[in-house]
Amino acid sequence: MITTILRGRFDAQFSASRQMPAPDASLRRDRLLQLQTLLIDNADALCTAISADFGGRSVSETKLLELLPAVRGIAHARRKLAGWMKDERRPVELIFQPSKAWLRHEPLGVVGIISPWNYPLLLAVSPLTDALAAGNRVMVKPSELTPAFSELFATLIASRFDAQDITVIPGDVEVAKAFAALPFDHLFFTGSATVGRSVMRAAAENLTPVTLELGGKSPAIVAEDYPLEKAVQSIAFGKFVNAGQTCIAPDYVLVPRDKIDAFAKAFLARAEEAYPGVIGNEDYSAIITDRHKDRLNAALAEVQDAGCRVLNHESWIQNSRQCAPTLVIDPPPTCLLMREEIFGPILPVIGYDTLDEALALVNSRDRPLALYLFTHDRKVEEEVLSRATSGGVTVNGTLLHIAQHGLPFGGIGPSGMGAYHGHEGFKRLSHARAVYKVGPVNGFEWFGPPWGLLSRLALRLLGGIR
Ligand code: NAD
Repeated sequence: MITTILRGRFDAQFSASRQMPAPDASLRRDRLLQLQTLLIDNADALCTAISADFGGRSVSETKLLELLPAVRGIAHARRKLAGWMKDERRPVELIFQPSKAWLRHEPLGVVGIISPWNYPLLLAVSPLTDALAAGNRVMVKPSELTPAFSELFATLIASRFDAQDITVIPGDVEVAKAFAALPFDHLFFTGSATVGRSVMRAAAENLTPVTLELGGKSPAIVAEDYPLEKAVQSIAFGKFVNAGQTCIAPDYVLVPRDKIDAFAKAFLARAEEAYPGVIGNEDYSAIITDRHKDRLNAALAEVQDAGCRVLNHESWIQNSRQCAPTLVIDPPPTCLLMREEIFGPILPVIGYDTLDEALALVNSRDRPLALYLFTHDRKVEEEVLSRATSGGVTVNGTLLHIAQHGLPFGGIGPSGMGAYHGHEGFKRLSHARAVYKVGPVNGFEWFGPPWGLLSRLALRLLGGIR
């Protein structure tokens, strides 16, 4: 049944994308404005739905970390669209003159977007913005773990857009699998590496190109010279928003060994200051499901059993879906907290003696989605940037590289492939079509055939080839 509905929606978009000309700048801008207005007009309802899905998600977080970047991303695309859409003149070699070469940025056709639960609005709307700017038809499959948001978003989109242009399809994992099997012109997936592999396999059947926005363990390195309190402030911010369920949250932190205790003390104090009482505080978000909370509890039990120092405040621990901000000092590399992306407010703190040692640890792992470095020393900055790679970096802060419309956002290796946002997003979801227009004289064809003296002369003069 759902397969038939999916196929019907896809077919309608597919034939529209093949029959109608590419939307011009003003139609694209209009669609973007509709989307922007829809988000602003329904901000409260969207926040309520997301909070219901989480069993408690701070409204300020939803507004500041989802709605605001989504709306600003759309406004940026509307402003820049005409410039992005302009044909790009390309140089032509002398032997092909007189002629012209240029690139046209054309829609790909039908783009599929599969989005995760952790920032359900932003991670559906951001790729949707880029896809609409690029003139595509779009089908969105939001996560089954945010049913209230998914249903509301589907209804709102259906109220403003023709399903031939944009359609949202809520549903469970079976729907997601059927969705990934559709022969899209591009499939844009945000989620885990495990599901990313399945999505890429399904796309391969149709030779559908993919963008994979995945996760991983993003390290934070606090250099010797950097004021500890300031580093704590930023790392706590990046780790605590959405209770650590952020793809670019600092996953673990590397701190000069003699500063571990001072770091831990300041970090726990910052948690109490930011979220007084912590558990029960409405600004502090819940963990998405009991299953996810159980996983975090099991990870903590494992390091406790292994004899690691586990630091939090007794009064914060409660049998609810909120998870106490917790530090784990020097956990072994084999434990779950150091093997998998944590996705919760638990921060392993690892002591290091030299920067070489810190970099060796980062480089012994998969290339991360983000890297955070705290230093005022330009030499240290250059050394870390050139010796440890990642999808993106924020220096002396956390998370903020994702909010820059002028920067691409994406991973490298196991943290993802392909980047989006702003101009890069427009280019990712457009086809850069090469156009070459022959001038009044086509000199190249003078050489032959029949191939003779002129072609041999040309080979020698142009390429030094006998
Ligand atoms: P997930 O991979 O479990 O699910 C993501 C989406 O895939 C959901 O919509 C789900 O319905 C769908 N899905 C599940 N099985 C599928 C299948 N077999 N075929 C097709 N689709 C399928 O991820 P999640 O738990 O929702 O999100 C958490 C993960 O996402 C973390 O690893 C996190 O780092 C990552 N993430 C990455 C970014 C980024 O921008 N790089 C952003 C947010 C989250």
